[in-house]
Amino acid sequence: MRNLANQNVLISGASIAGPALAFWLRRYGFRPTIVEKAPALRDGGQAIDVLGTATEVIRRMGLLEQVHALQTGKRGTSYVAADGTVKASISSAVFNGVGAGGDTEIARGDLARVLYEATRDDVEYLFGDSIAELTETADGVHVTFEHSPARTFDLVIGADGVHSRTRALVFGPESDFVRHMGYYISIFTIPNLLNLDHWELDYNTPGKIAGSYSARENTEAKAIFAWASEQLAYDFRDGDAQRRILTDTFAEQGWEVPRLLAELDNAPDFYFDAMAQIKMDTWSRGRVSLVGDAGYCASPLSGQGADLALVGAYLLAGELAAAAGDYRIAFAAYEREMRPMVDACQRFAEGVGQWYAPGSKTMIKVRNLNVRLLPYLPWRGLIGGAPQKVARTVAAKDYTVAVS
Ligand SMILES: Cc1cc2nc3c(=O)[nH]c(=O)nc-3n(C[C@H](O)[C@H](O)[C@H](O)COP(=O)(O)OP(=O)(O)OC[C@H]3O[C@@H](n4cnc5c(N)ncnc54)[C@H](O)[C@@H]3O)c2cc1C
Repeated sequence: MRNLANQNVLISGASIAGPALAFWLRRYGFRPTIVEKAPALRDGGQAIDVLGTATEVIRRMGLLEQVHALQTGKRGTSYVAADGTVKASISSAVFNGVGAGGDTEIARGDLARVLYEATRDDVEYLFGDSIAELTETADGVHVTFEHSPARTFDLVIGADGVHSRTRALVFGPESDFVRHMGYYISIFTIPNLLNLDHWELDYNTPGKIAGSYSARENTEAKAIFAWASEQLAYDFRDGDAQRRILTDTFAEQGWEVPRLLAELDNAPDFYFDAMAQIKMDTWSRGRVSLVGDAGYCASPLSGQGADLALVGAYLLAGELAAAAGDYRIAFAAYEREMRPMVDACQRFAEGVGQWYAPGSKTMIKVRNLNVRLLPYLPWRGLIGGAPQKVARTVAAKDYTVAVS
């Protein structure tokens, strides 16, 4: 039995990475506190796939049954013309459920809630607050908050997403680390206007896609938009400016686009961001480290963001426990273990935009042809299994540690 050092850990961000990290830290005997700037747990967001090693992490948390119970059950996707004619369809079964709505697909907000419920009783949550300043001293990190009284923690972990404040305070401005990938994405919850039955409809024009898929057993739906664009100057905290960018971009579009956009003002949630990657040589400095999108976002639409967050949280907590809280050893080991999966996921994400929102009418036709042919291709398993393969780049290492 070894003594556990550095037990008081502040985590910034309560989405996927933050609560998952807190879960594992608690299991190993640490005392995590989570600060989340939103006043309550944030709902919303796309359906996400939990694949490969992340599934194993969820299983080891004892949450797999809950996650399976919340699966979206999406059966497939059709690409339609402006008049609604179906041009190509793909069934989830083609990929054995992988990447097209399989048995591990869950709404982001539902996964966040499962992780929150699993931690809320023994993890301190500070909602509606944010780190203001961080000062590292010889034996801790002095943290001032925007609202709560200042405190000193042994370690601080940024799990605060692609626009991480922790990263900005410790490593420098976002512009030093962000790589714009040429697309934007927006998603919000709407009524199931198109009467979709576990299905997604998508409408493409060159460089743009607008679509909708049913959610929560068809009781509601998501409206989803993505489009090719140079990097835009806007405040990522200004939702109204983002709504304007979205409506201007999709003005004059056919199909059901006007009806989908008409729901924007009533939507209970709204997600808007650039498809961008966060590229860093190191995720740790002194007593501070980063996990999930804050350190290594692979980009929205990559399908790997939640997997990276879950696996990164598992490895970071495990290495801290294995090193009995010695953060110098643990952070270095975490980076070594996690880096191959980050590199693989970021490489995988490169081509997603062109598949999703092809740049010309010809490319849309080529994409639709590919979709129609896929069920007949002998190598369809390879294509369908590619996200699984990437999601298994690193294994869920065993951390059998005895600490007190
Ligand atoms: C509401 C929401 C909707 C999303 N929708 C999609 C989607 O549709 N498609 C997609 O690909 N990805 C989406 N994402 C991102 C996706 O969740 C991540 O890519 C992935 O799951 C990794 O999660 P993460 O926990 O590292 O980061 P994130 O999920 O981005 O979570 C970061 C958390 O930190 C909080 N936070 C931010 N700044 C501060 C601060 N200064 N102080 C305290 N807390 C802070 C945020 O409110 C958020 O809860 C969404 C994220 C959120 C928060």
